[in-house]
This record gives sequence, C-alpha cells and structure tokens, in this order.
Amino acid sequence: MQTCIFPGSFDPITKGHVDIIERAARIFSRVIVAILCNSEKTPCFDLVTRRRMIETATAHIPGVVVQDFEGLLVDFLRQSDCRVVLRGVRGAQDLPYEQQIGAVNQHLMPEMETVVLMSKPEYSIISSTLIRELIGYKADLSLYVPQPVIDMIYVGE
Ligand code: ADP
Repeated sequence: MQTCIFPGSFDPITKGHVDIIERAARIFSRVIVAILCNSEKTPCFDLVTRRRMIETATAHIPGVVVQDFEGLLVDFLRQSDCRVVLRGVRGAQDLPYEQQIGAVNQHLMPEMETVVLMSKPEYSIISSTLIRELIGYKADLSLYVPQPVIDMIYVGE
C-alpha cells in the first residue's frame, strides 16, 4: 500500500489543496494530510479548527487521513513509515522553494521522494494568505474555499 504525506499549514484549507488531495488519492492508496505545527508562526485558525476544516473538506475522498506534526518532516515520514512527500505547485514562483526543501529533505533522508502535482489553472491563484486577507473584509470566498469550510469561517454571521 503506497502512502504519501501532504504537509502544509492549511490555514485554512482551500479548493486548491482539495484538488491536489483528490488527484493524489487516485495515485496513492492513502494520503496523510499533515498539519505543520510551527511554534514560530501564529496561525489564523487553531489546530483543532484546521483539522476539522480539512476533515470536512476531504470527507468525500477515500483514503485520506488527517494528522499533525511538529519538527522535521523527515522525522514524521520515518514515524509514519512513509517515504513520499506530496506538494502542489501553482506556477514557476513555487518551484525554487520546493526544489530547495525537496533537496534538503532528500539529504536528510536519501530514500524519500517528493512528488509534485501541478495546480489546475483555475486554482493557481489561490493561497491561504489571500483567503485570510479576504476573510478580514468578510468577502465572498465561494470560488476559493469549499462551502462547508466557509460555513465554519463565517460561523454565526
Ligand atoms: P506551506 O506553508 O507548507 O506552503 P500551505 O498550506 O500553504 O503550506 O501549502 C501546502 C501545500 O499545498 C504546498 O505544497 C503548496 O504549494 C500547496 N498549495 C497551496 N495552495 C495551492 C493551490 N491553490 N493549488 C495547488 N497547490 C497548492
């Protein structure tokens, strides 16, 4: 059974992330969506909320598991007995970072591989940063974020 780990902040999860997870689930029998808990960054949404958002947005996709981790990704890979990291790229601007982090991960764990899926054009402009800005203006998020997640963001409004 081939497993991949899709690490990220998912602050919050977007339609771009969900598309990458859906497509990866056709290639891998299990996709672990791994929320990075980075003590240096204060997220907009706490871990419990981000986890609920991801679980809700991916409930229709077979083989998806949501977990969180702290520290080095390669340590989490080893703990999970997994050697494939999944990443999404939206365009040329995402590549230098992915190349750098992929190379460092491979130095630390030579048997690991990074698999990169390209964003669909309609999702390539979406980032969690953009969504967080729009939330500040209570803007319509329906093109960018799954509806059940929007309901969690604008709860009670
Ligand atoms: P990170 O801080 O690790 O970049 P993110 O949650 O922003 O965490 O992104 C997690 C992964 O999803 C990264 O590989 C990122 O490039 C990818 N990603 C983010 N937004 C999109 C999108 N709109 N389409 C495809 N992939 C995306």
